[in-house]
Amino acid sequence: MARERLYLFDTTLRDGAQTNGVDFTLADKLIIARMLDELGIDYVEAGYPGANPTDTDFFAERRPMQARLTAFGMTRRPGRSASNDPGLVALLDAKADAICFVAKAWDYHVRVALETTEEEMLASVRDSVRAAKAKGREVLLDCEHFFDGYKAKPAFALACAKAAYDEGARWVVLCDTNGGTLPHEVERIVGEVCAKIPGGQIGIHAHNDTEQAVANSFAAVRAGARQIQGTLNGLGERCGNANLVSIIPTLKLKPEYADKFDIGVSDEALGRLAHVSHALDELLNRAADRHAPYVGESAFATKAGIHASAIMKEPATYEHIAPGRVGNKRKLLVSDQAGRSNVLAELDRIGLKIDKSDPRVTRLLDEVKEREAIGYAYEAADASFELLARRLLGLVPHYFDVEKFDVNVEQRNNARGERVTVSQAVVKLKVGDDEFISVAEGIGPVNALDLALRKDLGKYQSFMTGLELTDYRVRILNGGTGAVTRVLIESTDETGDRWTTVGVSPNIIDASFQALMDSIVYKLVKSGAPA
Ligand SMILES: [Zn+2]
Repeated sequence: MARERLYLFDTTLRDGAQTNGVDFTLADKLIIARMLDELGIDYVEAGYPGANPTDTDFFAERRPMQARLTAFGMTRRPGRSASNDPGLVALLDAKADAICFVAKAWDYHVRVALETTEEEMLASVRDSVRAAKAKGREVLLDCEHFFDGYKAKPAFALACAKAAYDEGARWVVLCDTNGGTLPHEVERIVGEVCAKIPGGQIGIHAHNDTEQAVANSFAAVRAGARQIQGTLNGLGERCGNANLVSIIPTLKLKPEYADKFDIGVSDEALGRLAHVSHALDELLNRAADRHAPYVGESAFATKAGIHASAIMKEPATYEHIAPGRVGNKRKLLVSDQAGRSNVLAELDRIGLKIDKSDPRVTRLLDEVKEREAIGYAYEAADASFELLARRLLGLVPHYFDVEKFDVNVEQRNNARGERVTVSQAVVKLKVGDDEFISVAEGIGPVNALDLALRKDLGKYQSFMTGLELTDYRVRILNGGTGAVTRVLIESTDETGDRWTTVGVSPNIIDASFQALMDSIVYKLVKSGAPA
């Protein structure tokens, strides 16, 4: 049976840009647009030309790509002609393949927010679609608040959708703008709309306010819609938009959808999905969600010993898909409740060949248990575990010694009489017979220590250039005065690899120092730095 084509529309750069704390520069937008294009997304909505300078700049030039580059904006304002509305004129002039208009499909909004009549709203849709088509653009209409509008007054919501369709819009997109609609309601309403407008021209735009944006998108597809709008990592205001990073693998790997539909994302591109998801977090300078479906670090992680041994025998017993399909990997957690099979499986994953009955396996397990008892957390710190194992097997070269370090924090008045807090670190290192003393200032003591440590590692310095700390987490264990501090540091490098290291001490600087050292040594090991 021939599969039907289903289209993906990404709005990370427009709706996703509404996320609290997200502020894309033009350069960011160009990088993300390229990422989306390489992934095989059909439509990339890049912004709202005329509404802000970044988006206006983006659309000032042709940006060649496979995907249909889409500009977003309002239909003509009530009471004006299309040619006499500067907003609409800017949108029509944008160097885009497609234009996505937004119109209100809820009569209540038309009256209260736009202060106009339903007839004028419909005329505005018709005029705008006609004007964009005359400019040779593919046209989409986002019917804002469609589901709430349909519940309140179905005739008007439908008339709005129908006006765009009749005028020749390629897509009519039904938006759950407030995100409160439930999947069974979406399925029913989209089904009713598809009886009036062909499903091959209906899209769904779901928000995640009941954490069902992905489910709502699939409900719409089941009812006949053939375009899904969403964002990378579910970015979007409030609780976010439908997450394309979850939708894509479900469409590609679950027979319910994979047997019926083709999408523009190839198997090869799917294999880079985890990387794309993490690259966006990187760009936003935030830690990746460890529990994200399909692509999270924990998405294929197993803890208990009994499961671990079964997974090694037959992965399908505990995994709904093969992790490699989406560029993720299996992870067996080494924790104090783990058995030998966990440790063996983890050694196997790292690529360390060791006989099952080798006494060093027991020694490693004992060491992990002992250290976890005092606060180390190896299941969260894969790189520190690997170093522990490699050291036990004599596989970590002696790279350098830190002879001593000194960190100070000073609060004082600066030259302008303002109160400032300054941190400075001094590190004395020995690499072979060479001694190095580095001094660095940082925004805090750990930052200063990190900068000083990596400032001059002599012959190893060239291995440090791509190393970057992406996350720093501190946890106080036990509580009270006898407390110890656990520090977890996440690092990344130029290859896009990420790893986590751990340090534990009653002193936060010391705990941070251990985790920093592990990260640096791990980087040297993985880069194959010579002893
Ligand atoms: Zn939206």
